[in-house]
Amino acid sequence: MFCPNCNSQVPNGAPYCEKCGVQFKASPAPKKRSSGGGGGGGGGSRGGAAPPSYLVLSILATMFCCLPTGIIAIINSAKVGGAVASGDYNAARDASGAAMKWCVISFVLCALQIIFSMIMIAMKAEAGGGAGV
Ligand SMILES: [Zn+2]
Repeated sequence: MFCPNCNSQVPNGAPYCEKCGVQFKASPAPKKRSSGGGGGGGGGSRGGAAPPSYLVLSILATMFCCLPTGIIAIINSAKVGGAVASGDYNAARDASGAAMKWCVISFVLCALQIIFSMIMIAMKAEAGGGAGV
């Protein structure tokens, strides 16, 4: 084949011209982009946008709600940053989702605890009738 830029001969399948350095866009070299993939469920383009780490939410959940589940959320939040730093966006997205899940679990447990303690107080007030123990 011949370089379209400088017309010098280049080996077939070369990604760029060795003489002038121009890149061949329609390179015949085999690449990953196979047009007839199986479904192609959006796994190809990773965008480059880092997923949210939910770190602040995790810390709030730990401080005000449930300590064990909040700590799990914080650990996953920390994983998000590490995975983004190493360019592993799939792992970052997994950790981000896990962090959010554990934050939600913490808040739900917190709400259940409040409801439960209110029920206990109501029952105690009803049973005790004001008599001090
Ligand atoms: Zn050239």
